[in-house]
Amino acid sequence: MNYNPLEGKRLFYLIIDQLAGHWVEGVEIEGMPPPNVKSYHELRLIPNFSYLISKGIWVRKPWNMGVCNTAFGMKYLSTGSYDSRREVGFFEYVRLKYNVKVAAFTTTPWTMKGYFYVPDPDNKGKGIMISLPPYHPDKSILLDYVLPFLIAHHDWSFIHVYFPLNDKLVNIPAFSPKEEDPFKSKHAYLLYLDKLLGKIVRFLKLLKYWDETLLVIVSDHAYHLACEACRKLGVSNPNWVCDHVKPYDCRLWNFKEDRPLEKYSKCVRRITMIFSGGLIPHELRGSVIEEAEIIDVIPTIASLLGIDYKSEGKNLLNLL
Ligand SMILES: [Zn+2]
Ligand SMILES: [Zn+2]
Repeated sequence: MNYNPLEGKRLFYLIIDQLAGHWVEGVEIEGMPPPNVKSYHELRLIPNFSYLISKGIWVRKPWNMGVCNTAFGMKYLSTGSYDSRREVGFFEYVRLKYNVKVAAFTTTPWTMKGYFYVPDPDNKGKGIMISLPPYHPDKSILLDYVLPFLIAHHDWSFIHVYFPLNDKLVNIPAFSPKEEDPFKSKHAYLLYLDKLLGKIVRFLKLLKYWDETLLVIVSDHAYHLACEACRKLGVSNPNWVCDHVKPYDCRLWNFKEDRPLEKYSKCVRRITMIFSGGLIPHELRGSVIEEAEIIDVIPTIASLLGIDYKSEGKNLLNLL
């Protein structure tokens, strides 16, 4: 029998669109840091993210150093390379090389080849792609598609889940103090995402997958806020979430005096990167890596699972 490095191991790979992982020091909006994972973790506002950080390997300041739009970010996150011509993604590679059950729950068009395409050449149901309309609600992807799959298929090896909706939440305030609706501010949506993350952890534990699972949470890019890119879009107020357009190397903006500051904000480059789940070796739980790049996600996953896969990024375990 062929040696299969994935025996007894699973990957749950979650990409949350536009989730800022950190922010430039010293920026405050309404007395709060701009909504981002690092600051909210430190303020104890997102307990489920914090739980995964405490049990896993957390990169405090990961960056997208390529193009900060969804198509490019997804390419880097599916291949581990900045080279946009790569035609075979990591999921397709694993599906064919190890003949394991691989499923992708995403939206149009990320089941394309070179992204999260998972073939099923023998029609044995081992390659599963669910491609929903753009901006299909995150909660529905999780509860209507992923959860029933987890219950029905105990033999899965790889699952990719994409949460698109946060990418739609631009041209809204970062904070809107009394607003409860998660879709009305970036702040409220980050708290909502934390609750969805809690559900994922609970499902994996209840269904007894947790100990075997590497749970990875990453993002493709972040959003502009309180910077020169927002001002160029005509915004005159720092509490306003802007799209992730160029320039990606934006400077902070002084809105009172209507001028740029020397300091760079680089808002949209500030992504999220957490490797967690029961599969993380005990000695690595609670580890912190200071900086990394978006292309390092796939080689680090490959290393944690014992898979040989060539890409441009580096294996972050070598930094620990
Ligand atoms: Zn995006
Ligand atoms: Zn910016």
